[in-house]
Amino acid sequence: MKVIAVVTADFERGALGTRSRLADDLGGGTVVRRTLERVLKCERVASVHLVVDTAQAAAGQAAVEGLAVKLETHHAGDVPWFNYVRSARKWSLDAWRGGLGSTCVFDESLHPWLLEALGRREQADGVVDVPAAAVLLDPRLLDAMIGHYETTADDVRMTFTQSAPGLSAAIYSTPLLGDLVKACHSAGRMMAYNPAQPRRDMIMLPCFYPPETDVRRAFGRCVADTDAAVDRIAACLRECRVAGGDDVRVVLGGFGDPLLHPEWPGYVRRCREAGIFAVAVRTPAVTLDKAAIDVLEENQVDVLNVLLDAATPETYRDLHQADHYDRVLANLDALLASHQARQQPQPLLACEMIKARATMDEIEPFYDKWIGKVGSAVIVGPSDYAGQFVDRAVMDMAPPTRFACERLFTRALVLADGRVTVCDQDYRGRHAVGSLADSSLAALWTGETLTATRRSHQAGTYDAMPLCRSCREWHRP
Ligand code: SF4
Repeated sequence: MKVIAVVTADFERGALGTRSRLADDLGGGTVVRRTLERVLKCERVASVHLVVDTAQAAAGQAAVEGLAVKLETHHAGDVPWFNYVRSARKWSLDAWRGGLGSTCVFDESLHPWLLEALGRREQADGVVDVPAAAVLLDPRLLDAMIGHYETTADDVRMTFTQSAPGLSAAIYSTPLLGDLVKACHSAGRMMAYNPAQPRRDMIMLPCFYPPETDVRRAFGRCVADTDAAVDRIAACLRECRVAGGDDVRVVLGGFGDPLLHPEWPGYVRRCREAGIFAVAVRTPAVTLDKAAIDVLEENQVDVLNVLLDAATPETYRDLHQADHYDRVLANLDALLASHQARQQPQPLLACEMIKARATMDEIEPFYDKWIGKVGSAVIVGPSDYAGQFVDRAVMDMAPPTRFACERLFTRALVLADGRVTVCDQDYRGRHAVGSLADSSLAALWTGETLTATRRSHQAGTYDAMPLCRSCREWHRP
C-alpha cells in the first residue's frame, strides 16, 4: 500500500490568520524544515511533498533544499471554508476538536483539491495531510497510524487519532478526498454529528487509531503558528510566556448585556485595531438590531454567543423572567439572512443553554435545532459562583480529587469599571487584584496576587482567594 505525505505551506499567513512563522528560526532550523524533517523520519511514507502557491515557489525551494522532499506549486487559492474555520478554531486552539460548527484541527490544513490531485497523480492509496508548522509531529505515532490504515482501509477511508494539535496528522484515501471535493465538504463537516443521520462518534469507529494514554490526554497546541504555541514548543522549560501574544482572545460579555453598553461598537473596533486575534460577543441578543448586526459584521467579530437557554417561549420566560423568545429568534434569523446577503460567515452563531433542572426536557430539541441550523450549539453547566448565587445544577460534576484550577492560568476577567478579578466567579469584584485605571493588564496578570494564588493551587491549597474554597468550577477549562 502506498501512502504519501503532503505538507501544504503558506509563507505569508497561517491557517488561523496569524503571521506565518514557517520561515522563522526555531532552535536552529526553520519551522517548515523542522516539520519536513519530522515527516522524513516516518518509515512508512513513500514520498513527501511540499505544496506552495506559485508566488511562493522561491520560499518553498529554500525550504526543501537538501531534503528528499518534492516541491509542488499551485494556484488553487484558499478553500471556500477558510474564514469559517479560522473563526471557529480560534476558540479550541489546544484541542484537536471541539471547535464551533464541529470544526477540528484537520480543517486547518486540509485542502482536498490539492491533496486529491497529488494522490491521483502519485497513485497513492492514502494521503497524510501534515500541518506545515507541526514541528513536534511524532513519526512513530504516524507510522503506527499508517499501519492501522493499511489494516482497515478496506472498510474505512481515513485514519485519525486523538492527540494535541500538531502531534499527529490525518490520513485520507484518495477517493475520499475526491468525494470531499465533489461535496465541497471540510473534514470537520464530514466527521460532525448530524441529528438527521445519527451514528456513533467517529472515535468509536475503525477509522480511529487509539493512541497511548499519555498522548490521548496531552493538551496544548503543538502547531507553531501562535505565540503561545511557539513558546510552548521552543521552550517547554520556560516557565512563563510573554503576556499579550498574538493569540489573545477577548469576550465582551459577562454579567449584563454588552449590547446595552452605549460604547460597545467602539470597544469592538478598538479590539480589531489593536490586532486582537479573536473577538466574541456574549449576549441575550434581545436588542440585536440591524445596527448591531452591521457593527458585528463590519468588524468581523468571530463569534456571537447567544444566551438563549430554551427551546420554547415558556421555558425562556421561566428562566429569563421576560417574554423575548420569539423576538430573539427573529433577531437571529435577521443575522443569518445578513450573512447570506454578504456571503460572510462571521460572526459564527453559537446559541447556549444551561443544563439545569428547568431546561432538562429541552436540551435535546435545543441541541438538534441549532446544530441543524448553524452547526453549533453549546450546553453548559450552571455555576453558583462559589455559593454567591442560586444553585441550578442538576448534579455536582466536580471530580473526586481536586487539582489546580486551569482558569487561573488562562483567563482574566475585566469588569465594566476596569477592575481585574482573579477569575469570572468573582462577578462582584470583591477580590479584585487591581484596576486598569492604575495598572496594565500585563502587570496585574503577572503581579503578586495572581502569582501567589496560582502557586497555592499548584501546592494543593485553595484558600489564597476566598472564593476558591467553595468553588465547584475549578475542574472546568
Ligand atoms: S477555583 Fe473557582 S474561584 Fe478559584 S480561580 Fe478557579 S474558578 Fe475561580
